[in-house]
Amino acid sequence: MATKKARRLIDKKKYYGVKTAEKKYRKEIFNTFYDPSLIESLLSENLPFIQQESFNEIVYDYFAAINKRIVQLFETARELLLDSFQKGSKRILDKEGGVVKFDEIEDTAAIDILIDQQLDYYEGVSQAQSKKVNQIIADGLEKGQDPQKISQQIHSSIRSISSKRAMRISRTEVVKSHVLGQVQTMKEAEIEEYNYITSNDSKVSKICRHNQGPKGREKIYQVQYAGTPNNPLPVLNSHPNCRCTVVIR
Ligand SMILES: [Zn+2]
Repeated sequence: MATKKARRLIDKKKYYGVKTAEKKYRKEIFNTFYDPSLIESLLSENLPFIQQESFNEIVYDYFAAINKRIVQLFETARELLLDSFQKGSKRILDKEGGVVKFDEIEDTAAIDILIDQQLDYYEGVSQAQSKKVNQIIADGLEKGQDPQKISQQIHSSIRSISSKRAMRISRTEVVKSHVLGQVQTMKEAEIEEYNYITSNDSKVSKICRHNQGPKGREKIYQVQYAGTPNNPLPVLNSHPNCRCTVVIR
């Protein structure tokens, strides 16, 4: 399988439309975890009392405020990931790169776990930020830095962590839900076998090259067991930022 032409088609079509969801999700995560005015208002209130204790309070208040916003972020995530799941469910490619039409899926349970997991990822962002902020404060106080400088460092570290995590979470989760949508359709349509297709360029990871199998003799996987180590799916069984896809065999 997979002539050059087929590969080009697959590459062109595989994640069509998910970039928008990815961008939107990235932006929402970033804005939830980095709000300069929120940091500013907390810091300006407390800056005159530069003692470890008052900074602990700042950190506490800051993350309490963030936690309130997470509820909203979670609702947005649910919409975006479900949308990507449904898009995936309509994007079943064959090995020539053609889109095959099937009935609409009925069961969306496969994505529920994924949606719930988002809360763990948000917690991870909060933890990473809180750890870093506490470290900045401890260092700053020990070195006797002025509050202004400490404040700047807090701003830039919260911004940087938010941006990196937002990128990683949005890319990974949107693609995951898309892949889960594809698998759900294949299951409901009683498709039995699939291939795992890489982008076939020099950036493809060792894991994915292995998952695909040698060119022209791509490995055959069982839809029924898709998402297990012996029947791998892109991202779910490979790594974040994976660009691979699945096609009907
Ligand atoms: Zn890959």
